[in-house]
Amino acid sequence: MYQRIVIKLGTSVLTGGTPRLDKPHMVELTRQCATLHQQGKDIIICTSGAIAAGRERLDFPQLPLTVTNKQMFAAVGQSRLMLMWERFFDLYNIHVGQVLLTRADVQDRNRFLNARDTLHTLLEHRIVPVINENDAVATEEIKVGDNDNLSALVTILTEADLLLLLTDQPGLFTADPRQNPNAELIPEVHAIDDTLRALAGGSVSGLGVGGMATKLQAADVARRAGADVVIAAGRAPNVITRIVQGEQVGTRFRATEHPLESRKRWIFAGPRPAGRLVVDVGAAQALCENGRSLLPAGIVRVEGEFGRGDTVSILDTNGRELARGITRYAAADLCRIAGCHSDEIEQRLGYAYGPVAIHRNDLILV
Ligand code: GLU
Repeated sequence: MYQRIVIKLGTSVLTGGTPRLDKPHMVELTRQCATLHQQGKDIIICTSGAIAAGRERLDFPQLPLTVTNKQMFAAVGQSRLMLMWERFFDLYNIHVGQVLLTRADVQDRNRFLNARDTLHTLLEHRIVPVINENDAVATEEIKVGDNDNLSALVTILTEADLLLLLTDQPGLFTADPRQNPNAELIPEVHAIDDTLRALAGGSVSGLGVGGMATKLQAADVARRAGADVVIAAGRAPNVITRIVQGEQVGTRFRATEHPLESRKRWIFAGPRPAGRLVVDVGAAQALCENGRSLLPAGIVRVEGEFGRGDTVSILDTNGRELARGITRYAAADLCRIAGCHSDEIEQRLGYAYGPVAIHRNDLILV
């Protein structure tokens, strides 16, 4: 069934809600991964817990949780965490390889392809990539921020067909199960819409960063890249092997029927938009309903400083993001040709890169 599986392990799964890493449980998770690995499946671990491991190692110093202190904990904890995964996988004679990423590593198309090659090479050699964010050096601008979204990026990079988001909750519920006894587990999600986002709210679990909201974002990205996604409790017995066998556990999101092609997946997942283009009703309709490219004529406002080739957001006049794409013209150029017919581009700028501002092939609807 599934062949390549990204397993995201949240801090709450690795600590069991305590301040310490739960090594026996990490061994148990490793055992399940090893079973699948022995069946010939590719396993990719996306592990949280560096900050928790660092605090534990330093005996829980009473320090304010400033960015630099957290980075110090992450620096100490990441090597501890890696040492543990290395040891646990070694019990099953499986090699692991550490890959620390930040958003900057996927923002630029070349770096993205580089990271992808490294991961593919590890997998070809049957090595389990163990991935975390490079917390020790990640500044706000280049941070992915939470390992839910990081694991979705990794799903794209590795072209995995299943993403498991393991957490301290059994899945997504119809209401917050901690407050509402009638809350029911949603076994399968077909569309991620505003109702569902409202359900996920802003729930955050313990020491980790993400909550259901970031899990939904991650699920959305990964399923559009062609992977099934399951949110489940990381401490449920044999949770990994059962899900991979297709058993109904947690909340499953089916991959979209027509996954985005590889370059578009990158547009969706990689670069943070460098600017915004506000478009009129006609252009919005042409983009969303008729599958057309964005022409300068439909642009009513250009926001931000960006260059040719940067990723920008396309918004309607109400500020709702409609799409994202790679612009063929820099911000300064677009300011001069916004609202114009494409025939006038050359005359206004003295040159032209073609009639469209963003070509359909470089654009995805959000
Ligand atoms: N990268 C962080 C860590 O290892 C965790 C981020 C998250 O929990 O989403 O501590």
